[in-house]
Amino acid sequence: MLTAISRYGARVLRDTEQIVARCKARGEFIQGPHIVEFEDAFARRAGGGHAIAASYGRMAFYYILKALDLPPGSEIIVPALTFWVVPDLARVAGLKVVFADVDPATFTLDPGALERAITPATRAVVPTHLYGLPCDMGAILKIAARHNLKVIEDCAHALGATVAGQAVGALGDAGFFSFQTLKPLNCYGGGMALVRNATLASRVRALATQEPWPSTERVKNRLLVGRLQRIFIKPWVFTISAFPILWVSSLVGANPDVYLWEKIRPLHPLPEEYCERFPNVQAALGLAELEKLDEWTDRTRRHARVMDQALGDLPGITVPQVPPGRTHVYYQYCVYGPQRDELVVRCVRKGIDVETLHVDVCSDLDLFAGERVEPLGTPGARRAAGAMQIPVYSTLSNEQAARVARVVRRVLASSGTSGT
Ligand SMILES: *Cc1c(COP(=O)(O)O)cnc(C)c1O
Repeated sequence: MLTAISRYGARVLRDTEQIVARCKARGEFIQGPHIVEFEDAFARRAGGGHAIAASYGRMAFYYILKALDLPPGSEIIVPALTFWVVPDLARVAGLKVVFADVDPATFTLDPGALERAITPATRAVVPTHLYGLPCDMGAILKIAARHNLKVIEDCAHALGATVAGQAVGALGDAGFFSFQTLKPLNCYGGGMALVRNATLASRVRALATQEPWPSTERVKNRLLVGRLQRIFIKPWVFTISAFPILWVSSLVGANPDVYLWEKIRPLHPLPEEYCERFPNVQAALGLAELEKLDEWTDRTRRHARVMDQALGDLPGITVPQVPPGRTHVYYQYCVYGPQRDELVVRCVRKGIDVETLHVDVCSDLDLFAGERVEPLGTPGARRAAGAMQIPVYSTLSNEQAARVARVVRRVLASSGTSGT
């Protein structure tokens, strides 16, 4: 039987269970020394600044905003194409969100759009290194300096990516990272703030550490859910479980993803489980994973090269662009092609699960109805939403990556010859 390849691949340490058991045995499941060790190792890797662990990446962002203590009515510019929780938490933190368009060639904040979105009330900007490619930080930092804006990098997809040899997260005033199951570093949840200025960092730390510790029960459940997710996306399990759902939904035109992701809803007041500290056991996993990160990133990049070679020469297909001076970690490998939805259905029927939209065109969501959008609107984000995402994640074997490349090439090539 054909083994289906999932759109998702979680990075998991072989000795996950042993690390968890060790923390339990020492009575350091919730509180313990690994939190500070993880923060220090993370900051060293980022090339400086102060790292502060949090319950979620979004909460790291929230604490940064609260610590900045911007005047009431301040505007924050966020790319129109991003995970909806980011602009919503900016609102919870008391700011007014303004959406700026992305460059559809790179999927990241367009510096021209940023410039157009600025008003006298603008105080901050969130360059999101979407899908693992850094934004045009040279241009963005220049604009921010000219208008005296705080720069808070969203690095949820981009741990390990660089601009001119410098790691993302330490390029602006602050950055934040996510450790959800599918992110570059998987702690089954959690996040990190990286803050350059020591005074701002101590304010962020005060906010993050005044939260209560989570219960043992809650953290155990989290690790269990993580383990189930891990099992669920193994190729053979995926074949007998999720894949028939995707396969059938490809026939009826439904989107099964809506059942997997967090429901889009207002986050005010903050859900209770957001307001807690990052526990020691998850830090222990993160600490051990930092050692593996480069290897994982290299594997993903190799798979991306295989895909570039397989698809790069096909007429009408655009593979990910990497502008000079930046490195991409390919959290998503995003391709444009004609008749996308039909192509996706054909890939799914051949056992390759191709995803269509990983984040949201936030400026088009009801949740943000009434929020200001830059004068030229967000056509770039809408165009970017028409791309498709091909699996290249690090846990694919070389054979699987080769199969993905072969199948996707065949499907895309036949669409080219059949005409548009
Ligand atoms: C995952 C993600 C976040 C937030 O991370 P959490 O840990 O889930 O809060 C922020 N921005 C982007 C683009 C993301 O994909």
